[in-house]
Formats: sequence, structure tokens, C-alpha cells
Amino acid sequence: MKEIVVISGKGGTGKTSITAAFATLAKNIVVADCDVDAADLHLVLSPQIERTEDFTGGKCARIEPGLCMGCGKCESICRFEAVSLNGPANDLIAKTYLIDPTECEGCGVCAKFCPTDAIVMEDDVSGQWFVSRTHVGPMVHAKLKAGGENSGKLVTLIRNESRSIAESVGADIVLTDGPPGTGCPVIASLTGASMAVIVTEPTMSGVHDLKRVAELVEYFKIPASLIINKCDINSDKSDEIAGFAESHNIEMLGRLPYDPDVTKAQIAGMSITQYSDNNISRLIRDIWGQLEHKE
Ligand code: SF4
Ligand code: SF4
Repeated sequence: MKEIVVISGKGGTGKTSITAAFATLAKNIVVADCDVDAADLHLVLSPQIERTEDFTGGKCARIEPGLCMGCGKCESICRFEAVSLNGPANDLIAKTYLIDPTECEGCGVCAKFCPTDAIVMEDDVSGQWFVSRTHVGPMVHAKLKAGGENSGKLVTLIRNESRSIAESVGADIVLTDGPPGTGCPVIASLTGASMAVIVTEPTMSGVHDLKRVAELVEYFKIPASLIINKCDINSDKSDEIAGFAESHNIEMLGRLPYDPDVTKAQIAGMSITQYSDNNISRLIRDIWGQLEHKE
């Protein structure tokens, strides 16, 4: 079983559209949507959820009002300004304090120094993850709450679950839609993968972000290949990117031209290869044929 991770140095390169097209061309796969901060692969694959689990990203502090003596120590030592005065209390306690869960980083310092042990550290449920059925095979995906933390940890969880499902159903490939960028979630989606497919576009920022993501795959020694999407919007930049790939041992998989049918397919909730058998679909079929047989 091999794991192909589709990544891009930045958002908006067409990474997910290409992943969706691969998914609908593949024969025996498990799909992992690791773009957990902006998941949208489900819009094409229409998963039927079969299992839902809470994702606990970390801890969050909460004050037990009955135990608090209103000393204010937690407010003074919280570096994240998550604690604030909550007004007067009663005849015994002059004031009470409140912890804002959206500001709390879960460091636990307040709980350690509270003189009355009034602060409890609770699991912070920052989203859900799902195992679903789709017409292309099982899919593992997630939904983080707005501002949900620890997406790198969630990416690792999704990958582990996808691999375990792939082993149990005898799938040949785990196809992963990786997060954009080069941060912690991308690293979590790449480590130990069989290969990375980088999707870029011929713009200044595309070139800049490609260089950063290329450093990452080089560092983790992951065999990488490249797709230049919308290659015809700037042929010179496309050539520059192809030259960069060649000099960095990144295999060129193909150049895809700009095609308005890709947007029409998205609107119709389909992959481009389902929507039309046009030139770009044929090029993507050819690329998937190369990837499928790579060891
Ligand atoms: S440190 Fe403890 S006792 Fe003091 S205000 Fe905070 S919660 Fe209350
Ligand atoms: S756990 Fe840390 S971040 Fe949260 S309220 Fe306490 S000191 Fe502040």
C-alpha cells in the first residue's frame, strides 16, 4: 500500500480539484482529507458519514466558582490574557474571575498556582472527524471548529486512521489531500508518505511557495513530483518552474492549461474527469496513470 500526498505551497492552486479528479479515476483507494482547516473535498465526493468522533485538540481551563476565593492570581499570571474579572461575588468573596475558552491556550499555569485548586483543566473538543463511505471508497475527513487548534495533531490522526482502514480493506493507495503551505499540518501530512505531488501555478507567489515546499520534501527525503496548473497563464514562469523542478530532482508530471470547465465541474459538485472528457481531463488521466504505477 502506498500513500500519495497532494500538496501545494499556497492555497488556490487547484490542489483539491486535482485530488478529486485522481480520486474518481482511482480503482482501490482510501481518501484522506488532511486539509482540515479548509476541507472541501467532500463537496465533490459527497461522503455518507458512518462514524463520528470528537477531536480533542488540547486542554482548556475552567474556574469552579464554589472553590474560587477571588485572589486574582490567575489573572495576573496568565500570559494569554484569558482570565478577566467577572464582577462582584457575594458577602464572602469580593470578586470572581472568568476564563475565556477562546483565549485560553491550555498551558495549565493558572491551575498550578491557584491556592484553592479552583481551576480544572478540561479536554478542549475543537472539532470532529469522520469515517465515511463515498462512491470512490472509504474517506476519512474532519471539521474543525472556527479557531480550532492543533490541526497538525488532527492531520496525524486522519492519516493513521486512513492507513489502518486501507490495511483492513486491502486498498492499494491512500490518496491524501494535504493542507496548503509549509506549516505544522503540512509536515504532519508528509512524514512517512510514499510520495508527494506538488501542485503549483505560474505566478510570483506560486514560484516562491513552491521553493519553500520543495525544501520541505527534500528535508524529509520524500520523492516528489510536480504539476503546473493553469500553465498557460504565464508560459515563461511555467518554464522557470520546470527548470527549478529539474534542478531539484522533482519529477515533472505534467502541465495543465487553464480551463473554465474546472470551475463548472466544481459548481456541479463533480470532478473535472467526471464532468467532461476534454483535454484537461485526458491530461489528468495520463498523470494519474503515471502515479498509479509508481513504486
Ligand atoms: S487563582 Fe484560583 S482562587 Fe485565585 S482568583 Fe483564580 S481561580 Fe480564584
Ligand atoms: S491555562 Fe494558561 S492560558 Fe489558560 S487561563 Fe490558565 S494560564 Fe491562561
